[in-house]
Amino acid sequence: MKIMMDVAVNLKAVKEKISQACARRSPEFKNIIPRLVAVSKTKPASSVLSAYEAGQKHFGENYVNELIEKASHPELITKDIHWHFIGHLQRNKVNKVLAVPNLYMIETIDTDKLASAVDTAWQKFRKEDSSKLNIMVQINTSKEEEKSGCDIEHASALIKHVIENCKNLKFVGIMTIGAYGYDIANGPNPDFLSLVKCREDICKELNINKDEVELSMGMSTDYEHAIELGSTNVRVGSAIFGKRPPKDN
Ligand SMILES: *Cc1c(COP(=O)(O)O)cnc(C)c1O
Repeated sequence: MKIMMDVAVNLKAVKEKISQACARRSPEFKNIIPRLVAVSKTKPASSVLSAYEAGQKHFGENYVNELIEKASHPELITKDIHWHFIGHLQRNKVNKVLAVPNLYMIETIDTDKLASAVDTAWQKFRKEDSSKLNIMVQINTSKEEEKSGCDIEHASALIKHVIENCKNLKFVGIMTIGAYGYDIANGPNPDFLSLVKCREDICKELNINKDEVELSMGMSTDYEHAIELGSTNVRVGSAIFGKRPPKDN
């Protein structure tokens, strides 16, 4: 009972902070309503249910087995939940992820080969013949070797590949995780600025409209800041569900 209340209270506070951040944005962003993805990794299905009952629809997970377990949970499988996969995806796990009930989006496509594998496999899993799977391309803006995501320089070519060759995928936007622990006392987060710049370059190179390319950036410590810089999709975990054991960064 305690946990249930906390999740609902936290969720309400996060949504309020999102509205306030929206109000602080420059007028060019005024029509964007950022999507809140509640990141439930390491948390039980009961926490997801509490958030759902408090009105939350989009949830994110970054481990394949955990996503399958929660999405298939008898209390959750019947709900109108939109699951986002936000973890590193290995090609040998593609079928497992695509089989997830209510899979809404994969935010972490980072190679041509992975895009093609998901594209081919989606034909077997989609519920309707013409339905495309939403995907984002993950970009390694912080250039840290241990981070996944495609290099900034390759993003445009990868997106071109998705648009031209992956007919079963819908390219929705670009995503970054960014360096941990950045202090915005030092100015705007360079990873967020970098993602914004990537979008500009990509749109110019591929001749697509900026409004058609979402930005997935911002987590518990910096989602308000990310929204001020134009984020359309924030991925918030601990601020809603409470702290996790430290290991899973
Ligand atoms: C865990 C995780 C989040 C959420 O992190 P919090 O700091 O708990 O908000 C967001 N995005 C990705 C890719 C994650 O792995």
